[in-house]
Amino acid sequence: MSAEDYDLFVIGGGSGGVRAARIAAGHGARVGIAEEYRFGGTCVIRGCVPKKLLVYASRFRDEFEDAAGFGWTLGEAPTFDWSRLIAAKDREIARLEGIYSGNLEKAGVTLHRSRAVLRDAHTIELVAEQRCVRAARILIATGGRPNLDASLPGIEHVITSNELFHLERMPRSIVIAGGGYIACEFASLLCGLGVQTTLVYRGDELLRGFDGDVRRHVRAAMQARGVDVILDQVFTRIDRSGERLEGELSDGRLLHAEQILFAIGRSPNVSGLGLERAGVELGWNGHVVVDEYSRSSVPHIFAVGDVTDRVNLTPMAIREGHAFADTEFGGKNVRVDHDRVPTAVFTTPEIGTVGLSEELACEHYPAVDIYQSSFRPLKATLGGSNERMLMKLLVDAQSDCVLGVHIVGTDAGEMAQLLGIAVKMGATKADFDATVAVHPTAAEELVTMSTPTRRWRRDA
Ligand code: FAD
Ligand code: NDP
Repeated sequence: MSAEDYDLFVIGGGSGGVRAARIAAGHGARVGIAEEYRFGGTCVIRGCVPKKLLVYASRFRDEFEDAAGFGWTLGEAPTFDWSRLIAAKDREIARLEGIYSGNLEKAGVTLHRSRAVLRDAHTIELVAEQRCVRAARILIATGGRPNLDASLPGIEHVITSNELFHLERMPRSIVIAGGGYIACEFASLLCGLGVQTTLVYRGDELLRGFDGDVRRHVRAAMQARGVDVILDQVFTRIDRSGERLEGELSDGRLLHAEQILFAIGRSPNVSGLGLERAGVELGWNGHVVVDEYSRSSVPHIFAVGDVTDRVNLTPMAIREGHAFADTEFGGKNVRVDHDRVPTAVFTTPEIGTVGLSEELACEHYPAVDIYQSSFRPLKATLGGSNERMLMKLLVDAQSDCVLGVHIVGTDAGEMAQLLGIAVKMGATKADFDATVAVHPTAAEELVTMSTPTRRWRRDA
């Protein structure tokens, strides 16, 4: 092999790729990494981080409204400047991007700002550099991309979450298609910023896969905050008429808005990557099929993160990348556990959850005790908002083990992180009961629910 060659070449400088490259280099490997857009990947550049900054911005409206109840008089009606927020967000993202590439360089990784494609099972073409390099091992960490329904007439008029972050002007109105994480988060945050927001979902309740009570609670709360939710509908065509777009739904209804955003899922980023030339097996939706060590069907080619379509969250991509590097270059044997992963949906109100939904718990366990509470948080009493928090514990009645915890309300994501530890450790309801409450908090409800709200028994 020539002097340019690597022990490891990573394709994709996002959450999983950057972590794997850095850790492998730390173990002494010669590592190269290619990124075709910006180091940091989806999470940092056009996902979690900019999204959360916009979520923060969107929640000030509620704070302004609540302030009067606590004795504050705000002067003129607060106004919001989209361009200033986007510029501030862009500065922060550029700073983080610099940290990501800087950390790679400090670790001794060679950075290639180029698209990379496989020429064969050991050769990588760096398109921008018009040359090829060879590597002993290759890691595919190319993430995912938003799905668009190419057969929908007028699909060229819509935007995805990628473009939303760079709109020069905040739209006065938007229609969002989808009912998952992105559709619900973006509907919430845009509504909070004052955009007239409509959400169109094909099913009968948003956020499929989450606990049923959580789904109903969040949908009702989003509607109460001003999001117009349309269920059981899809778009049949989209047209532009002047400044505005017109979308027709399956029942013939016409919707008009300045922007239409599609958030109908994401697919593994494998198009044109040359995986077939290397003999890498792909799954039903184009994901790279891997084993528990993130090894593909070709023994020296691995894949981590969204391109493997396991649990498509940043911390999972990071874990998979780290485990791969430790196992292949650090002399360790690390498998990533994808079970009971805590997660948050940054709608307003926010969802924090870990473990099984009530529906899944009842499917898998013969006896489940459900502890559920919906209450008005203390802050709302003076603030005057109608917000209600939802907390739910699902307990295996036979072993007393807590199977799932679900929270809707302020800081639910922060709570889910800590509850994740307890649930992962196999905490029982008795452990929750033995824990003294922190008072006055909303979270104390989790350790003070003494009687099941209902008991589900398979044979009852
Ligand atoms: P990515 O971060 O997508 O990185 C892949 C990189 O590979 C990209 O930078 C891409 O440009 C590059 N690339 C692709 N092909 C090539 C090629 N051929 N050559 C060179 N480079 C290439 N997750 C959470 O946990 N919490 C959240 O709050 C959250 N919010 C999200 C909000 C949005 C709007 C979106 C879209 C996603 C969000 N996610 C969130 C999911 C999270 O962003 C992903 O799970 C995570 O980024 C996956 O990391 P990855 O390393 O697999 O891929
Ligand atoms: P999701 O898989 O969460 O949701 C996709 C939505 O689109 C679902 O409601 C789905 O409906 C609907 N849908 C799918 N196909 C069609 C179609 N052809 N026509 C109409 N609707 C359709 O994907 P997202 O794009 O929202 O997000 C991608 C992933 O990114 C998430 O799954 C998550 O892993 C990650 N993410 C995480 C976040 C976080 O951690 N807070 C935030 C944002 C993203 P149905 O349910 O009926 O299939």
